[in-house]
Amino acid sequence: MRTIYFDNNATTAVDPQVLEAMLPFFQGLYGNPSSMHHKGGEVAAALRQARQQLADLLGCEPGEIIYTSCGTESDNTAMWSALRTQPDKKHLITSRVEHSAIINNAAFLRRLGYQVTEVGVDRDGLLNLSQLEKALTPDTALVSLLWANNETGVLFPVEDVARLCSEKGIVFHTDAVQAVGKIPINLKASKIDMLSLAGHKLHAPKGIGALYVRKGLKFAPFMIGGHQEGGRRGGTENTPYIVGLGVAARLAGERLPEENTRVKALRDRLEAGLLKIPYAMVNGHRTIRLPNTTNISFEYIEGESILFHLSHAGICASSGSACTSGSLEPSHVLRAMGVPFTAAHGSIRLSLGVTNTDDEVDEALKIFPEVVAKLRELSPFWKDDGPVQESELLSCEDNNCQICN
Ligand SMILES: *Cc1c(COP(=O)(O)O)cnc(C)c1O
Repeated sequence: MRTIYFDNNATTAVDPQVLEAMLPFFQGLYGNPSSMHHKGGEVAAALRQARQQLADLLGCEPGEIIYTSCGTESDNTAMWSALRTQPDKKHLITSRVEHSAIINNAAFLRRLGYQVTEVGVDRDGLLNLSQLEKALTPDTALVSLLWANNETGVLFPVEDVARLCSEKGIVFHTDAVQAVGKIPINLKASKIDMLSLAGHKLHAPKGIGALYVRKGLKFAPFMIGGHQEGGRRGGTENTPYIVGLGVAARLAGERLPEENTRVKALRDRLEAGLLKIPYAMVNGHRTIRLPNTTNISFEYIEGESILFHLSHAGICASSGSACTSGSLEPSHVLRAMGVPFTAAHGSIRLSLGVTNTDDEVDEALKIFPEVVAKLRELSPFWKDDGPVQESELLSCEDNNCQICN
């Protein structure tokens, strides 16, 4: 069966050029870049080149990059560094729609006695900037915000917030895991202090990430050990993967225009076709958004069932809700946006990339209406050609039921 992969925000395929560049570092080029002999030297030179390639994509100095094992490690490193270098400050600010790498850390820090403010978003998923401004205090150690939301693609004005924080002497970190390679980034021209990225979201392998740390910013390492990464992250460098990330960064820079023309056009055509299905709506701002992502709700059916049927037809997508312990909890992102329950439940995320084609969009636009119609036929909230009127619904006698109450 043919696969149509519309889940590029979850992970991407390793580019063949990336793999090809990596392979020699598993065999002949196995030296430790810290070694004094020539086997180390040749690898150290390759790492220097890879670091320059990533720095070019971000518009920063090579020395401002610290390699990590993933986006999550980059996020953890940034948060802990900001707090440990400012031990007198006990307040941090983040948003209600962050990735779990930030949300769960913030929750943990709260248990440790830190005060955490989670700034809200509006119905379009845009940041409540005035709420954020009001929350800044002399006790604030860190503001950490997503650049691009992984579920909706909505962009936050992180450069504006970074400027605001800079004026007040507050450290600003952005989780840019979804933004890198999809929108232009020039860190030199910004006041961003730290930025997280993950290789596997831009066609490098899983298991390599990086953290940008602005030159001159006080930094406390998360991984304490050897002198690697300028003493900022101990552990022998993951040389094949760092080389792969370098090539992936070069390719991402070259393909950035394509993301914003061809891939965006595919996304827009797919979205427009899906919106012809009755009771379908897009979640998230339509223009202040990544070029590759759409989050769509098909009301009165469940996201999980849609994914199951899509997968059966060869289409890979993601759900906006996570099924936890048997109870279907809608996504925290859609809840923060105030998406109605019936819509949040039937939401799915489609995230495209440079590997997708026009044919795939055509094929998906044939499959989707059939899947949605079939599921609505089975839905207790759907009768004939429309939703069941509220008066016709039977209460399910569960006092906690979010649909009945
Ligand atoms: C994928 C993702 C992460 C986590 O990256 P890993 O490499 O899987 O740890 C963090 N933040 C965002 C926004 C992501 O999309």
